[in-house]
Amino acid sequence: MVFMMAFTHNLGFPRMGSRRELKFALEAYWKDRSSRDELKALGAVLRHRHWEAQKTLDWVPVGDFSFYDQVLDMSFTLGNLPQRAQAFHGDVLDNYFRVARGRSAQSAETSCCGGVAAGEMTKWFDTNYHYIVPEFTAATGFTLDASRLLEQLAEARALGVKAKPVIIGPLTYLALGKAKDGSDKLALLQRLVPVYGQLLEALADAGAEWVQIDEPILVTELDADWRHAFNLAYHDLKASRAKILLATYFGPLQDNLHLVAELPVAGVHLDAVNAREEVLPLLGLLTGLKVLSLGVINGRNIWKTDLNAVLDWLEPIAERLGNRLWIAPSCSLLHVPVDLDSEQGLDGEIRSWLSFARQKLEELALLANALNHGCQAVGAELDSNRAAVEGRRNSRRIHNPAVKTALAGITAQHGRRQSPYAVRAVRQAARLNLPRFPTTTIGSFPQTAEIRQARNRFKAGEVDGKAYKKAMQAEIARSVREQESLGLDVLVHGEAERNDMVEYFGEQLDGYVFSQHGWVQSYGSRCVKPPILYGDISRPRAMTVDWIEYAQSLTERPMKGMLTGPVTLLNWSFVRDDQPRAASCLQLAMAIRQEVLDLEKAGVRIIQIDEAALREGLPLRKSQWKSYLDWAVEAFRIAANGVADETQIHTHMCYSEFNDIIEAIAAMDADVITIETSRSGMELLEAFDHFRYPNGIGPGVYDIHSPNIPTIQHMIDLMKKAALRIPAERLWVNPDCGLKTRQWSEVMPALTNLVAAAETLRKTQ
Ligand code: GLN
Ligand code: ZN
Repeated sequence: MVFMMAFTHNLGFPRMGSRRELKFALEAYWKDRSSRDELKALGAVLRHRHWEAQKTLDWVPVGDFSFYDQVLDMSFTLGNLPQRAQAFHGDVLDNYFRVARGRSAQSAETSCCGGVAAGEMTKWFDTNYHYIVPEFTAATGFTLDASRLLEQLAEARALGVKAKPVIIGPLTYLALGKAKDGSDKLALLQRLVPVYGQLLEALADAGAEWVQIDEPILVTELDADWRHAFNLAYHDLKASRAKILLATYFGPLQDNLHLVAELPVAGVHLDAVNAREEVLPLLGLLTGLKVLSLGVINGRNIWKTDLNAVLDWLEPIAERLGNRLWIAPSCSLLHVPVDLDSEQGLDGEIRSWLSFARQKLEELALLANALNHGCQAVGAELDSNRAAVEGRRNSRRIHNPAVKTALAGITAQHGRRQSPYAVRAVRQAARLNLPRFPTTTIGSFPQTAEIRQARNRFKAGEVDGKAYKKAMQAEIARSVREQESLGLDVLVHGEAERNDMVEYFGEQLDGYVFSQHGWVQSYGSRCVKPPILYGDISRPRAMTVDWIEYAQSLTERPMKGMLTGPVTLLNWSFVRDDQPRAASCLQLAMAIRQEVLDLEKAGVRIIQIDEAALREGLPLRKSQWKSYLDWAVEAFRIAANGVADETQIHTHMCYSEFNDIIEAIAAMDADVITIETSRSGMELLEAFDHFRYPNGIGPGVYDIHSPNIPTIQHMIDLMKKAALRIPAERLWVNPDCGLKTRQWSEVMPALTNLVAAAETLRKTQ
């Protein structure tokens, strides 16, 4: 074997801590239960610990730690604070929290300038991480504040860490921001790039040899202006003494491949998991001494890497590149949990298939060892990796022949209702006998402290299943009683028995497991623990029928069955990498379909299938949207459409950007869709100017994200706006999402007004 020298590095490490230490420290500080100095000290402890965990790497990321969000960090580094935050004269960290979430700790507020409007938050590419959107106007200027990065760099170097500062690149930073005055963001580039130049100089002065500049926007479609801007910016930065590693991830570069290959940077990182087919072309285009960093370990999922397969593929590339090859995870490890060693409760076989952040770095070290010293140097480790990968591939736990047969039996018929909407609507109206502008809610009622306590006690084994069931039934009875007293037309059971809309179903389906500590940051101090979909999905028994039957037994009014849809179950889980997402989605669809049919058999007249996360699954490139929407919509239709004409199918979605996917939403063919619109004042309905939505729709008129009680008039006005675009016969009146995060004391007056608004509408519209 030829001698090679592959270097290892990491793009970013999860910052929360394996026990979510940062979350608890942040929340304690915000509640005034600890001091700013304690919080800062905890930050330093976590950084040290995480560097320590990465110490075998040749280059360790610095600057990836954040007290809230790395994009907001960049806004502070570039001196781009919104106007409303500029007059603050307290500690910078307090101002940072004000921009992030509207306020910092109580004591910090009272001693200084009070709260401000929180920055807007949105999803980081196609992940479930949310960043604070940078704000621009035509007048925006930038001034460097390198203090955070320089302090962390000094801290790392003092500990002997081989530090590689990480920053977000100028084009991605601009692309992710919002021009509040509608001005052209690219016009700011000439003011922005010099500040990046200064930053690189400052980092070089402080001893940084390499700086990783993240430009993930390169995996999306860029027009000529943006591509040109890339050239301008990086030609300007060429003079810097720090070597630039330009990092792209989350997908292939496609038509940006040449652009990237030709930028005057010292190295390029490519996501070799999602863009493996671009490695050889890129290698062929790279000139001179450029470093090629390959992301060979998936930074977005929790599966063990097939190291032998990676080596087979990587060795010839390593021979060509010699010491110009770096290897790394595909992207920052921010998107995976920290440490599999914490998962002692997990089934042993399944655990042997998994790899969290720390384990992924061990895999990386192994690969480097094999490349640099020959496979025999790590023969035993490679053998055990092969055994684990093969064990998973062949496990009977993964492959369920009955599921595969059922899937093979799916025909176009499965996705089709018996009759078109117009026919169904008549039959459903005859059966349900609802008034015009029928009122309903989205599913959950407040998850009170008592409900959570009862569930915790049940999980801890302090109360038995029977007592727990009784407690939940009492909650259901309470919400039915309240809904009747309010005079709502279509009732819900309130979801008291559900911890989470995905977890609840995942726990009852075969093919899912749950970690104990597998937390991933969602935004700020908030983390989610995505379930792990590891095998063929089947439904051993009905999941919701007992609860809904019980709820229906308490009232004459129609009780909605309440399910989470296949696309949402998929998009909010870690999913299999051994089959396409579409295939896993179809399996989920078949399981939900059985539940739908069981509910129908039990006499349930209306069934709601939530697809809160349908939009989240959209691919980063628009050119791939259609293929995703095709299979996602078909999965929903298969789940929903086995029912008779008389059974009414509802769906619910948690967002209001419909313009670009309205046709797909209509193609789902739900009889009624409820959506989030109240905050945007029915702006969403603009989508309906160009497209006639054919079925029933409930544009949410009560913003459940706010503690405010909506007035009757406000809701009437919103519905009137809706009635300009959708015929009144097809309109429903409802809140814009579930009520589980609200208090009963807020919900009752709000729904009283909602019912009153519907009554007025019936008389006047
Ligand atoms: N049915 C769910 C609820 O009411 C829907 C939640 C959601 O859309 N995120 O809580
Ligand atoms: Zn919702």
